[in-house]
Amino acid sequence: MIRSALLWASTNPFTAGRLPRYGFVQRAVRRFMPGERLADAVPVAEELQADGFRLLMTELGENVDSVAAARAVADGYLTVAETVARRELDCEVSVKPTHLGLEQGLEVCVRHLTDIARSAPGIVWIDMEDSSCLESTLEVYEAVRSEVENVGLCLQAYLRRTPEDLDRLLPHTPHIRLVKGAYHEPSELAFEKKREVDAAYRKLASRMLRERRAGRMGRVCLGTHDDAMIQDAARVAGELGLPATDWEVAMLYGIRPEAQRSYRDRGVTVRILISYGAQWFPWYMRRLAERPANVGFVLRSMVRG
Ligand SMILES: Cc1cc2nc3c(=O)[nH]c(=O)nc-3n(C[C@H](O)[C@H](O)[C@H](O)COP(=O)(O)OP(=O)(O)OC[C@H]3O[C@@H](n4cnc5c(N)ncnc54)[C@H](O)[C@@H]3O)c2cc1C
Repeated sequence: MIRSALLWASTNPFTAGRLPRYGFVQRAVRRFMPGERLADAVPVAEELQADGFRLLMTELGENVDSVAAARAVADGYLTVAETVARRELDCEVSVKPTHLGLEQGLEVCVRHLTDIARSAPGIVWIDMEDSSCLESTLEVYEAVRSEVENVGLCLQAYLRRTPEDLDRLLPHTPHIRLVKGAYHEPSELAFEKKREVDAAYRKLASRMLRERRAGRMGRVCLGTHDDAMIQDAARVAGELGLPATDWEVAMLYGIRPEAQRSYRDRGVTVRILISYGAQWFPWYMRRLAERPANVGFVLRSMVRG
């Protein structure tokens, strides 16, 4: 119930307009993002890289209301590409289709993504938003992939249709990031019980590793903080004889940092996703929904003042 309430608040115009103005909410969000500007994210990225991590960066935001606004977001990512190349960071970017103009037209989003991919040093990862964007996001991926090789896509294990989507993507030798899924979806589309989502995740991760072994997958990225998922994948990769360089784990900045270090120390490639940007509210609510105990942290920030 708390998860549903937090996901509802993430899209409600009243809460989205009010809550971000409160100092205690702004203080609490700092746990998950170093700051609102790219300049806040870069020094943290440099420190993490020096500590043996790889990086991913995203500017928070979604559902822009004009082509010009989407173009400004794309230009921001061109600046990121230039900055990470200059600072010699092993840092890729992860982008939301509706931030790059998906609602203004498929071709707008495709154009922006292709521009970013052409200047980015690594893979440009396409985030997966709620299921209303799924079909158009797959079409965007396919169109961009026909132009450039360095584009990857996030798939959500909680969606019942994801195994078929993976089949559809395999002819592209795709780079895929597998996550459990962060949105409120109807039960006819998505598994609701944790047990079912975890089982779907395990099956998909194992399939992706087998396809990688057979040369039908590009990068296999597991976007999860769940030890059970990671250990299961490590076991399958070991059985297949896949080298550690053939798959990686991606986690969010500020979430389970001790686990991030522990996997790194065991030779797993760990990529940390650092977020920045002024439009953090819906994203932050989704982080709270993933672990309602995080709400206690917000309340403590309120009490501490
Ligand atoms: C790199 C990356 C990219 C992502 N991209 C997308 C995307 O494009 N689309 C999408 O729908 N979702 C995305 N997600 C979010 C994802 O779908 C899940 O909602 C999120 O990762 C939580 O699920 P979990 O796999 O960590 O497992 P869970 O079972 O939720 O969590 C496992 C353990 O991790 C810890 N944990 C998890 N989340 C939190 C948190 N917020 N705060 C504190 N502790 C936590 C808890 O200890 C928990 O027991 C992304 C996640 C990552 C890591």
